[in-house]
Amino acid sequence: MGTPSFPHLFSELKVGSVTLKNRILSSGHDTVMAENGQVTDRLIAYHQARAAGGAGLIVLQVSGVHETAKYTYHVLMADNDDGIPGYRALSDAVHAHGCKVFGQLFHGGREIMESQDGSLPVSLAPSSVPSERFHVMPRAMPLSLIDEVIAGYGSAARRLKEAGLDGAEIVASHGYLPAQFLNPRVNIRTDQYGGNDKNRLRFLRDVLTAVRQEVGDDFVIGLRISAGEESEDGLTIEETLDAMRALNADNTLDYVSVVAGTSATLAGSDHIVPPMNFPAAYTAPLSARVKQVVDVPVMVAGRINQPHEGEQVIATGQADAVAMTRAMICDPLMPSKAADGLVDEIRACIGCNQACIGHFHAGYPISCIQHPETGREQLYGIRLPAKAPRNVMVVGGGVGGMKAAVVAAERGHRVTLYEASKRVGGQVLLAEQLPGRAEFGGAITNLVSEVQRNDIKTVTGVKVDAQFIEEHSPDVVIVATGATPHRPQLELIDEPTVLDAWDVITGADVPQGRIVVADWRCDWIGLGVAQLLAEQGRKVTLAVDGYMAGQRIQQYVRDVMTADALRAGVEIVTLVRPYGADADTVYLQHVLTGEPVIVEDVAALVLSQGHDPVTELADSLADYHGEVHSIGDCLAPRTVEEAVLEGLKVASEI
Ligand code: SF4
Repeated sequence: MGTPSFPHLFSELKVGSVTLKNRILSSGHDTVMAENGQVTDRLIAYHQARAAGGAGLIVLQVSGVHETAKYTYHVLMADNDDGIPGYRALSDAVHAHGCKVFGQLFHGGREIMESQDGSLPVSLAPSSVPSERFHVMPRAMPLSLIDEVIAGYGSAARRLKEAGLDGAEIVASHGYLPAQFLNPRVNIRTDQYGGNDKNRLRFLRDVLTAVRQEVGDDFVIGLRISAGEESEDGLTIEETLDAMRALNADNTLDYVSVVAGTSATLAGSDHIVPPMNFPAAYTAPLSARVKQVVDVPVMVAGRINQPHEGEQVIATGQADAVAMTRAMICDPLMPSKAADGLVDEIRACIGCNQACIGHFHAGYPISCIQHPETGREQLYGIRLPAKAPRNVMVVGGGVGGMKAAVVAAERGHRVTLYEASKRVGGQVLLAEQLPGRAEFGGAITNLVSEVQRNDIKTVTGVKVDAQFIEEHSPDVVIVATGATPHRPQLELIDEPTVLDAWDVITGADVPQGRIVVADWRCDWIGLGVAQLLAEQGRKVTLAVDGYMAGQRIQQYVRDVMTADALRAGVEIVTLVRPYGADADTVYLQHVLTGEPVIVEDVAALVLSQGHDPVTELADSLADYHGEVHSIGDCLAPRTVEEAVLEGLKVASEI
């Protein structure tokens, strides 16, 4: 053990009747690992890894308190006793590592994200005020149903206590049901639950009373709240602070957990899992304001990715504990590495949102593009030593190749990594140059650090071919040779200027004037290149062949990138494919109507039309005596996530 470098982060914190061993928590986040409303072994393995890595507190994902609280098809439910054994197994697994565990008591009200069976449910809210983001028109809750839901919070809390959890927090954040009651633009009732501040707070007060009646005072009860929903009709910070003052006076809460944003609008929801465009710990000023009006510990979440950021938040009195949730999705060992002074060994989260919240939104168990072991702990949680060490040659120093090299070396193989260019990193070297995406380069930094710590011989500037491999005769070749830009067949007349997106990113001469970016991938590249060119003073038309720019990327990232592109003046045309170009005109075709869409006075056409796999090396090794595996884009062009995952999979099996 080295000397802890973060005295505030690694000091104990008393919260209600429990003492946390440190101030780092994994805040409540959906995992898509519950099944039939219950805890699974996969979910237990996921949280056990974070507890073993040194977290002081794990707050489980939301638990529905009433049958009407099912906001996704995979929500965890605490509305019946059948789930108690699962919760108990989970809390036992977490407690074994000296980590405390709280649950989340949840009803989303009108925030219904998915159906249970394909048919749309009856959604509920204080009043019939629609949710803009999910296009849900709720039914105003009758008083009898309000009573039932309030009782549900109480009995759900009782179940969590019976299961051995240390506490629970009422989720009043992000525009969910309790926040809907608080909000005068959403709650337009005229009965005892609406009409004035006191009545709008009644629902939360009744919930707290019901919960305390069921669990007593020795079970920690907290409240999660958005200190500002950052949205047109959302709760304001002043409204939140008024509610906190009143609840503080009631003396029913043991802590407050502060976030920002709301589920109810696109821009408001971006704060639920803020991508890399948001500054580190940007919500700390909000928690600081909450701290001024309550006498209980205050926790805060919001892009706190590194221990020094968490330390700073606590040291400056802005919060008492920090949620470092993605930091531990990316590196479960982050707390113990920070405690041991091994900060350089922390695999830093880069705020890409791709495999954590991105998987959740797509309905798959969460993971991490940099650490695909996350969510797959039962398969890859332990690095099994190789049966016999072998000579492994990895060809291609992109992130997939580096991950394969690291995993193979950690298992005891003798690994050499070859990269044809002068620097490792592959396409991430391009991705990090897109506007607002610099942090993406952390994926390289993190893996280079792991390569170095494993003493992996890395040779750059050498193009490996079949003859080279025959001469070195490795037992295993892992081919990670990547991809090159794809050029579709276009009708080109009078030598128009046509460039690839990669050319633009690497600084090719782009003429002034109007540029058409023809984007087939509908991801970061087209949006980023369009913004880049617009910020350099060009008129840019981003012509995407999907329903929207960024269609294939995580919503919060898409929202931010689209807003930035629009602010830069980019004009977006959807549902078009490139057809041809001449000296000053780009001819597009509408993908639904087949009609031409013509853009005139064009200086250049920039293509973001996907990639072709580089297969020459793998093809030439068909008769090689050793094992040959292809991973990542040379297998099929996709993203960093698949390249790193395949690096893990292949290197775990050789
Ligand atoms: Fe962080 Fe990206 Fe991993 Fe999510 S997928 S935990 S944002 S690095």
